[in-house]
Amino acid sequence: MTSTARRRAMEALKRQRTAPSLGPLFAVAEEGAAYELDTLDKVAVLFPLPLPEPFDYRASSSLGIEPGMHVIAPIGSRLVRGVVWGVEKNHPGAANLKAIEEVLPGSPLPAISREFVDWAGKYLVRPPGDLLRMVARSPEALLPPPTHIVLAPTGETPPKVTDARARVLEEAAKEHVSAAELARRADVSSAVVKGLVDCGALAKLEISEDPPFPAPDLSMSGKALSEIQTAAAGRVCAFVRDGGFHVSLLDGVTGSGKTEVYLEAAAEALKAPDAQVLVLLPEIALTQAAMSRFEARFGVTPVEWHSAIPHKARRRAWREIAAGRARLIVGARSALFLPYPNLRLIVVDEEHDPSFKQEEGVIYQARDLAVARAKLGSCAVILASATPSLETLVNAQSGRYAHVELPSRHGAAELPDVELVDLKIDAPEKGRWISPKLIKGAAEALLRGEQSLFYMNRRGYAPLTLCRACGHRMQSPETDSWLVEHRYSGRLVCHLTGFSMPKPKACPECQAPDSFTSIGPGVERIDEEVRAFFPQARIEIFSSDTTPNGDAVRSLVQRMEQGEIDILIGTQIVAKGHNFPNLTFVGVVDADLGLKGGDLRAGERTFQLVSQVAGRAGRHEKKGRALIQTYAPQEPVMQALAAQDRDAFFAAEIAEREAAGMPPYGRLAAVIVSAPNEKLANDAAKVMGEKAPVVDGLDLWGPAPAPLSVIRGMHRRRFLIRANRGVDVSAFLAAWASRVKLHSAVRVQIDVDPYSFL
Ligand code: ADP
Repeated sequence: MTSTARRRAMEALKRQRTAPSLGPLFAVAEEGAAYELDTLDKVAVLFPLPLPEPFDYRASSSLGIEPGMHVIAPIGSRLVRGVVWGVEKNHPGAANLKAIEEVLPGSPLPAISREFVDWAGKYLVRPPGDLLRMVARSPEALLPPPTHIVLAPTGETPPKVTDARARVLEEAAKEHVSAAELARRADVSSAVVKGLVDCGALAKLEISEDPPFPAPDLSMSGKALSEIQTAAAGRVCAFVRDGGFHVSLLDGVTGSGKTEVYLEAAAEALKAPDAQVLVLLPEIALTQAAMSRFEARFGVTPVEWHSAIPHKARRRAWREIAAGRARLIVGARSALFLPYPNLRLIVVDEEHDPSFKQEEGVIYQARDLAVARAKLGSCAVILASATPSLETLVNAQSGRYAHVELPSRHGAAELPDVELVDLKIDAPEKGRWISPKLIKGAAEALLRGEQSLFYMNRRGYAPLTLCRACGHRMQSPETDSWLVEHRYSGRLVCHLTGFSMPKPKACPECQAPDSFTSIGPGVERIDEEVRAFFPQARIEIFSSDTTPNGDAVRSLVQRMEQGEIDILIGTQIVAKGHNFPNLTFVGVVDADLGLKGGDLRAGERTFQLVSQVAGRAGRHEKKGRALIQTYAPQEPVMQALAAQDRDAFFAAEIAEREAAGMPPYGRLAAVIVSAPNEKLANDAAKVMGEKAPVVDGLDLWGPAPAPLSVIRGMHRRRFLIRANRGVDVSAFLAAWASRVKLHSAVRVQIDVDPYSFL
């Protein structure tokens, strides 16, 4: 592609231009190309916009437009990038349509990606264009990669070799760089470099800025697996080898070697030429550790994809994935939507993790969509977890998924001893949150030269700030949520909307000075308390506030691994994947926290999180111990945690869900209606309620004010739908949405398979 053509295409990609009244009929070409008049095709184009369906255009048949090609076409007076969704060759009605403006040179979107967009749009009750937007995440990747010119020695000796010329040739032999950089490195003027080019001693090379990724080295082998691991790897590899759609639950306690096993499955999949493997991880912060393990196994860094990767890396990754050249991809949930032409295996690591659920924009559960994507594309899925989600476990027990188990920790490591601390009996001192038993546990670990972790799943200092004089509670503006005090930054923060303000000197209600009192604990307050007990210890907080990015996480994890920290105070961020060999004591400060709120999965999540946190203790030769503080030791979830009896806990939960027809024995969906004032919200919710279709086997509850009834000034009302398993909930929701016409200020959000009930 010439630089002019490239510039033109970039302009069209980047901004919306005004189209000529009737697009030039055969303008779809690079300069100089000429086409003869021939038949016209009708081309349906889907745009990455919230439009209900593709739009039709005409194009000369000689262009050979095929489904999946990326094009630019007019919508009204704008030119917009889209993807060809269908072509009807030689169509008599095509002449009356607007013309496609331009065909972009990028790899066509694979048929499987288009199928997935259509399927996911229907399932999630979203316009397919919204899904396409999630696929088409790097418009620049549709163009050939930009290039730059470097100089390389040709081997020819220049007629005259001065010292300066010799230095240039020496530098040029080390690395191929630009003329200016070469002059800088050799400390010569640009004329010297130019002279060497002119006499043929240096040649210009055009280098791509987005070179292909090196292929995984399949001759390398993994760790020598134990007998149990070998058996597990054998099973998952066989599923991969057999081809076709297959889901396995790789179920093993933390540290049992699940990662080692799925690395073998990845190696097996990659044996097929062109096969692609995707590993989804719940947290960007975890990718680095995973990347190193992949690198050790395959000799190359996998292709990385998540919201924080830089623009250029994104462009390169997208292009190489679409072309099928990127083979091994590690990413966050959004990586599922990339245009893999030949995906053979998807691994969802920590499959139970709630962060696979995207709650904003297009709401989806990446683990469930991964299974759907694999079904469409006939590939294998491995769902790995030490504490699988109840849905996955039920599927494994019913035989729909293969249940591949790794029952024990690798090597000498044993599971920790877990004990409940009844806060009604072993109460902390007044004004404190940690009972003497936990302090003793940490003190003993400290004496042995080992590390401790206090787990408190709340950021900041205190969840509520209250005026002692008038009782005023500091609340987030136009939002139903308290402001959380962050003492280290001196601010009050809304964890829901991100709003923050400096902590005021006086109460905004009664003007009493210094009248605020902090109610309840967050990690900062626990930190303060632990410091008071252990003034000599090296103590750090691990939360998203103290480790806002991957580098900060890496650095903290490294300090912990190298024994530079004695006591870590962490939120749920510590529960995920980290491996601290010298950590032997875990104190869970408030295990009851996650049980509040009456959420369907409250018990399940508490069990998963607390057992993952407890599982941080004693991952190597040293025995670990975990103490769990609770006011409700009799609750089944607490009993199960103490006994480390996952199966009994899940059996009870499963029985309850089955009796109530709750997932996975029934389906749920939520509809949230929000409006800028209460009346509008109530009216809209009422109209919606009246228009709901009546369907056998489907219950509709609501409308009711949402537990968070106002967010950022939007008043929220909720419906909850429960349906028997055979009912097509998506079709019901689509039919319902088509019946109602609401005020333009009203927003309706559909959440299929909801996880949040706020
Ligand atoms: P999981 O994914 O189940 O938490 P990992 O695969 O991360 O477990 O294994 C836990 C630790 O044990 C890692 O440091 C891993 O390298 C090590 N490990 C697991 N299996 C083996 C093995 N067969 N040989 C050597 N080290 C192993």
